[in-house]
Amino acid sequence: MLYKENTYVKSFETEVVEVRDKDGKVEVILRETYFYPEGGGQPSDKGNIGSAKVEYVYEKEGKIYHVVDKEITGVVKCEIDWKRRFDFMQQHSGQHIFSRVFEIKYDADTVGFNLTEEKMTIDINKKLSKEEILEVEKMANEIIYSNVKFKNYYTDKEGCKAFDLRKQPEIEGEIRLVEIENFDWCPCCGTHVNSTGEVGVIKVNKIEGYKEGHRIEFSCGFRVVKEYNDKNNILTGITSMYSASTDLIVDILKKQKDENVMLSKEVKALSNKLVDYKVSELLETGKKDFDIKIDMDFNNSRMLATKIVQNEGYLVKFESDEAIIYAKSKNREENIKEEFNNIIKEKGYKGGGNEYFLQAKK
Ligand SMILES: [Zn+2]
Repeated sequence: MLYKENTYVKSFETEVVEVRDKDGKVEVILRETYFYPEGGGQPSDKGNIGSAKVEYVYEKEGKIYHVVDKEITGVVKCEIDWKRRFDFMQQHSGQHIFSRVFEIKYDADTVGFNLTEEKMTIDINKKLSKEEILEVEKMANEIIYSNVKFKNYYTDKEGCKAFDLRKQPEIEGEIRLVEIENFDWCPCCGTHVNSTGEVGVIKVNKIEGYKEGHRIEFSCGFRVVKEYNDKNNILTGITSMYSASTDLIVDILKKQKDENVMLSKEVKALSNKLVDYKVSELLETGKKDFDIKIDMDFNNSRMLATKIVQNEGYLVKFESDEAIIYAKSKNREENIKEEFNNIIKEKGYKGGGNEYFLQAKK
């Protein structure tokens, strides 16, 4: 478990001492390894052992198993996927800082932690305002810029009592304490950077209510740069679509949304008028049966049919570009279902209904 001693080793040479097949996967044990096995909320390393790809690394009963994509033996050169590992180091180290500031500033404990390749969250057990959480973000960034050292100690459950730990550990045996010099002490087996400056930056992305407190999504380091770029691209896309400056775009979109709501209402009112006009036009013909093509959308076609068969004695078969509607008044005896089903089957439309009203769409 050499990663605990030096988290900056990216490649090393060693020997495969055991190869085994487990559930159809090849697993190898190395004489010594710098690969990080999944644990403490941090995903495992990936990389290469010789020509084999490392897919997953885990620890069981003091042994570290490397799950690889093919069998490999002998002396091997190992390569840790450093981009991935350093990303986790930045996120995990940032989380120590962030959680500590929540505790110092607002007496809020971190009760959950989740870190994946895509995102990182912590759960805190106290309700805070958005401003208070952003104040924690600011203080955490100040700790980053102070460039304080991360240190490791090895002790046990008793030894931990001498430290101001966020939470005293319950486990037996050797415990590794990770210190951010004169600021935070935390039992942890994860990989951390050498000093807080390497975390780069902490940025809160999302705050949700969760149990008695919040779930906070946040990012550190290179992730923030990537997310900033992604968000900036989206924003640039939107602002150029509207030929608007960034500071005005929210107002412009809000205005457009209001206009859309108003226009939708107007369109609906006009549609109703159009349907009513069409109803009286058809009723005035004096006919009772209509088998016609109509130039209306699905909803208006349905409305038209409904309004006609509300009167006694009518039977309608409407076909538009997107719909087929069959409907009849309550006092008509004919069975319209069979013909309707045949037609929609023939045309490949989907729909159905009861014996009085049937509708189908493309
Ligand atoms: Zn840690």
